[in-house]
Amino acid sequence: MKFFVVAFALAAMLCAATRVQADIPQGETVRGIRCDRMEGTAFHIHAHLAIYDRGRAVAIPEDIGRPLFSQCFYWLHTHTPAGIIHIESPVVRTFTLGEFFAIWGEPLSRTRAGDARVRKGEKMTVWVDGFRYGGDPNGIELHQHTDITIDVGPPAPKPQPFTDWKGQ
Ligand SMILES: [Zn+2]
Repeated sequence: MKFFVVAFALAAMLCAATRVQADIPQGETVRGIRCDRMEGTAFHIHAHLAIYDRGRAVAIPEDIGRPLFSQCFYWLHTHTPAGIIHIESPVVRTFTLGEFFAIWGEPLSRTRAGDARVRKGEKMTVWVDGFRYGGDPNGIELHQHTDITIDVGPPAPKPQPFTDWKGQ
């Protein structure tokens, strides 16, 4: 009996791991964004993302855009869990929050940001540089120090501006 319980737990863990792996790009080009050996130098800016699920901060992991087995950097990536999105690209172009989520391997819509989902009677409030953003969050452009807060909830208080750029 004990064996079956352990085997079942292992199978469930493997299933979960496989599902997550399947969603996360592993080095293939995503929406025209390559995963290169070196960080691009032509264009280097930073944006900030915070997500709150009913008032609780959702962790933005470190090493988004750095696939474990591929030794490469997507042009959009994170280094630390501070929510700072590094845009380091060999080409100068405008990138979007939707592209960042695609590289992260998490869903983004008007009702969902990763695991944070709107339930009945709730809504998602998106802030860009302190202003309410009413459109599809996938279209939010990432410019130098663009400051994005997503509140799934309530509550949705006007966010404090993010200032901890650490010189970046
Ligand atoms: Zn950077």
